[in-house]
Amino acid sequence: MTAATRSLGPFVTVLFGAERGKYPDGNSVLVRGRESSVLIDPSLSVHAMSVHALSVHGLSGHGMQPHVHVEHVLLTHPHEDHVAGLSAVRADGVAVHRADLAALQSLDGLMLLYGIPRDEWPAMQRLVTERFHFEARPDAHAFDDGAEWRLGGATVRAVHAPGHTAGHCVFLVEQDGGPTVMVTGDIDLTGFGPYYGDAASSLDDFETTLAKVRGLAADHHVTFHHKGVVDGHDAFVAAVDAYAAVFRRRSLALLALLDRPRTLDELVADGIVYRAGTRPPLFGESVERHSIRRHLERALADGEIGTDGRQYWAV
Ligand SMILES: [Zn+2]
Repeated sequence: MTAATRSLGPFVTVLFGAERGKYPDGNSVLVRGRESSVLIDPSLSVHAMSVHALSVHGLSGHGMQPHVHVEHVLLTHPHEDHVAGLSAVRADGVAVHRADLAALQSLDGLMLLYGIPRDEWPAMQRLVTERFHFEARPDAHAFDDGAEWRLGGATVRAVHAPGHTAGHCVFLVEQDGGPTVMVTGDIDLTGFGPYYGDAASSLDDFETTLAKVRGLAADHHVTFHHKGVVDGHDAFVAAVDAYAAVFRRRSLALLALLDRPRTLDELVADGIVYRAGTRPPLFGESVERHSIRRHLERALADGEIGTDGRQYWAV
């Protein structure tokens, strides 16, 4: 159940997940306007809250009446943890950026977005359906950069912020008589750093995105994981800069591994993303492989490494 909430002005409420939204949980945002309402990124806690409400009120005999009812569910992107509460929310529609639509519309689409090896699909499909309640939504709508939802007193605007996924967005919520709130999704400002380990991720786009969101004006910034709410623009800028520094930290970790010639497989075995002993068993290797490939491309372009097509080395 969602234990904690925080109101950010007259129309915005943060629904915190367990441990400030530590993965696999997350922090969802409810915007209730005078005419309609949206829920952004329904988490595992939203799912638990809705199921709890069902059992407490014994509504099963009267048809499903989940606890949360909104006009729209909006997603920063369709990763498993961001849609975990979707099936438990009563909503007229769910929408995601066009570039990520296929991953929400089918389970295979989600697997292609991750880009994990085919032999790992069955285990990953089990994980997302059993643990995260993933249900494909062929009825999902697509939106583009700049899409707006006018809710009466509050307006939600999508800002395309790719890198984590190709369609990742942040949402800016403006409200009459209240602060501007940025919902940052998986620009989560954690010490772990940016995640660009999927097939559809991009290191370059993520870097460009961080420079872009750094310049957006907002009073509060809600991250899906870990930080929860970052108050004020200065604190946000400092957090973004610390987060962006992880790109270079990983590049340097890669260069350190290349003090002698190594193949991609050897680099993946050591890794630059997860600390020793923390690599997730199912998708961790794939994340390392995608991420290291991206850093290798960058290092080659920057003239920091050489290659014979099989091995790489620092120059
Ligand atoms: Zn994500």
